[in-house]
Amino acid sequence: MTAVGNRARTAAVRVAVALLAVAALVLTGCGHTGWGRPGQPLDGVGSSPSAGRGGPSDAVPVPPAAVQGGTGTSSDRLAATVVAGVEGYWRERFPVEFGRRWVNIHGFHAVDPKDAATPVPCVRRALDLAEQAAYCPRLDTVAWDRTGLLPRLREEYGDGAVLVALAHEIGHAVQDRLDIDVGYQVREPDRFPTILLEGMADCFAGVVVRAAVDGGVAGVRLAPAELDRSLSALLSFRDPVGMTAGGNAHGDAFDRASAFLDGYGDGDGARRCATMSVRTQTFTQRGFSSASDAATGGTLPVAELLEAMVPDARAWFGRLVSDRGRPWRAPDLAVGSAGCSGAAGVQGPVRYCAKDGTLSASVDQLAAVHYARGDYAGGELVASRYALAAVGALGRPVRGAEAGRTAVCLTGAYTRALFDRGAGTGFGLSPGDIDEAVDELINQDLAARDAAGRAPEGDLGFRRIEQFRAGALGGPAGCGV
Ligand SMILES: [Zn+2]
Repeated sequence: MTAVGNRARTAAVRVAVALLAVAALVLTGCGHTGWGRPGQPLDGVGSSPSAGRGGPSDAVPVPPAAVQGGTGTSSDRLAATVVAGVEGYWRERFPVEFGRRWVNIHGFHAVDPKDAATPVPCVRRALDLAEQAAYCPRLDTVAWDRTGLLPRLREEYGDGAVLVALAHEIGHAVQDRLDIDVGYQVREPDRFPTILLEGMADCFAGVVVRAAVDGGVAGVRLAPAELDRSLSALLSFRDPVGMTAGGNAHGDAFDRASAFLDGYGDGDGARRCATMSVRTQTFTQRGFSSASDAATGGTLPVAELLEAMVPDARAWFGRLVSDRGRPWRAPDLAVGSAGCSGAAGVQGPVRYCAKDGTLSASVDQLAAVHYARGDYAGGELVASRYALAAVGALGRPVRGAEAGRTAVCLTGAYTRALFDRGAGTGFGLSPGDIDEAVDELINQDLAARDAAGRAPEGDLGFRRIEQFRAGALGGPAGCGV
């Protein structure tokens, strides 16, 4: 977070928070389409789109490609099953969705980056593929690091992460078959910045993951309970904090989760992905607004966070309720006080007491959240309790699943309001804050707990992000308020 305070210490921090005018972005022309850390463009990708291959536009049918490379390890077998299942899904669905036939992907390559002797399409050396998976539009091939990336993803996030990673890369092949390729990017960089093409691939991955949950991908089944870990894998590949949305940006955690959810959502996922544009998509990825913001990493100590945020949240949520015909002064936040005891205590570091409408916080507990996930992870919890207080002030139930969901959604709406603010308005978001909010939502259910300290039963982090996003994109109206 950043605060333009009265104190000299913070006075120099100016906040420039603006929703990205994505249409104005300048693309630096990199065609990296890899599942990996940005800033590692794969040599050859994008240098000659669609040239020299029997590509999608050619009339000659290509038989399904077998995976090249690999020694039959369990990761090799998993990857082979996944790419066959995902391509099979698109082979069947692509003509239905888009009225075009599917042309089989030209090649799949399981690569050991340490094996220098193995030629790998589209990269100069096998080592260039370390910790990566990538689609090469020029040769229409998908390649992945079979010895580093895949075992690590499985260990950290489960097998669903391999599905998400390879479905993202095959999503680029889907793009290519829709003629939305790096050629377009070069010709019309404003319409097709990297962040949009990456969002689209995340979106197509969401379509496939939904199909895998619903039993529609041959050989691949993902349990709904695995969704959080799979989505965490996708988010782990977000851009570094402070990277601007131009150039090689893939998007921050919110951007990537949001695009994935567009594909995952009910109904027309594939078509939603295909029609994504810089006009329809909201990207929150942006750079630091000032040198001092960058120097602190956009992180405020807990005491400063509360000092800056509490008056802001009181004003915003107070107005929200008053504007709906119920004059209400949002309470101050009593720091260090246990507030109302009992059930309210299990709400977490910040509590709303339904009995007397008060709010309290434990600075120590908040500091732990702050330490684990960043200042706006804690800020989000403050916002979620003000949201719950507002739900109560609106005369709605503050206990039950709906109360928790509305609190998360209104937290998204408030976060969006912070995000949309101009420079020098006192309190705003820094790059990374949205990531922290998303991290908190996927890892813990504190923001979704009701006044009795209970979160909606069986609710996934995945769902909490959906609720937060509904408020972030639709405002209070998106939350039914
Ligand atoms: Zn990609």
